Amino acid sequence: MKVVIIGAKESGVGAALLCLRMHYEVLVSDSGPIVNPFRTDLERSHIPFEENGHSGNFAERFDLMVLSPGVPTTVPVVAEFIKSGKEVISEIEFAWRHIGNGKVIGITGTNGKTTLSSLIYHVLEEMDADVTLVGNIGFSFAKMISTARSEYYVCELSSFQLETIVKFKPHVAIITNITPDHLDRYDHSMAKYAAAKFRITENQTEKDLLVLNADDEETMTFFKDYTTRAQVHVVESSRITENSYTSASGKHYDLSGSQLRGRHNRANMAQAIEALEFIGIGINKIEENISTFKGLAHRMEYVATVKGVDFINDSKATNVDSVWYALEAMTRPVIWIAGGTDKGNDYEAIKPLVSSKVKHLVCLGLDNAKLLNSFGDVVDGIEEARSAEEAVKKALEAATSGDVVLLSPACASFDLFNNYEDRGEKFKKAIRKLL
Ligand code: ADP
Repeated sequence: MKVVIIGAKESGVGAALLCLRMHYEVLVSDSGPIVNPFRTDLERSHIPFEENGHSGNFAERFDLMVLSPGVPTTVPVVAEFIKSGKEVISEIEFAWRHIGNGKVIGITGTNGKTTLSSLIYHVLEEMDADVTLVGNIGFSFAKMISTARSEYYVCELSSFQLETIVKFKPHVAIITNITPDHLDRYDHSMAKYAAAKFRITENQTEKDLLVLNADDEETMTFFKDYTTRAQVHVVESSRITENSYTSASGKHYDLSGSQLRGRHNRANMAQAIEALEFIGIGINKIEENISTFKGLAHRMEYVATVKGVDFINDSKATNVDSVWYALEAMTRPVIWIAGGTDKGNDYEAIKPLVSSKVKHLVCLGLDNAKLLNSFGDVVDGIEEARSAEEAVKKALEAATSGDVVLLSPACASFDLFNNYEDRGEKFKKAIRKLL
């Protein structure tokens, strides 16, 4: 087989390594420059590549095109290949075709994918199951398969990755929630965005499971008119308490040992339980191993207490919905640090929560006009900062002992930081300086 791969980053290079393993002829083609470590990966493995443009005529030279998730099917070289009648698939689909007997637990949704994938992986890993964590979260699915096979693959999937699947069939599919994000790629249509997420279940059969969240309005609205062959378990808030979850099959799980906080994390644990129970993991193992999961950095991460004020780093909250959950989980007066690159946020949905929980807002962005306009009348105090250090200093000045300083930006970070990790790390560093 002759395969052309478009895009030379984690997914593209992963697909190329899998081609090598399968002895397929391969070319990696990127419209821009190929950066390291991807360039060295290709060179070291003697994989042919081209950069800063595509040589074209791919339909004449190749049987199959594998797309990186960042590349839309409307790009001319891709559209041409499709027009020729040849198959264009995502790296996820390509990897799936080579997994042998392995089973996939696929996780998609707007928020919570990484948390949920890591939690499920943690439980399986702790019990020494033969499991690999793949997809959006770190190493690509194809790359992991090119080196070793597992019994289970916990696979974090963006809706982009699901756009070009064909036969991909997770044994368990989970949709965490569907709220507005990346809508520009879907003609600003929630229905189209939801449809892309629901593709995760389109090949599932009666032997597979789809896990949904009843609390999520968009998911349930879309699901009303959707038919799936899979078994469906819907997590309902009526079965979730502060410290427990009763699964769809009626088993009662004690979650009092868990270190995860907030309503969103209780939903995450409930969805994880449905998945783990379905693949046959016993109740004790699930309870025990959920309790040792510490959560991830930059997601509602407790940093330190300074002068009686707790600091929480939720830098990964880059949209309004995740901020809603962060604020909802707060039980003490909040000094809220928000702002950055606005992705077309609509703040109406969180105004009541901000009004009842936030006493002071520090806007951490280059252009804070929208936050200032939206919340100027909602909070007692509002000010601006241009660095994490300045934001931390101003937040602490506005706080009294017993308050919480929460960095939960609702925005991307690219105006002042390299990425959300950089923002979170600088925030933590500024706090540590105060200790
Ligand atoms: P993703 O991988 O989908 O971006 P993450 O697990 O990295 O999701 O979490 C992103 C943000 O959303 C964090 O601020 C986190 O606290 C919040 N979050 C986590 N789980 C959920 C959930 N089930 N619903 C809403 N927000 C969530």
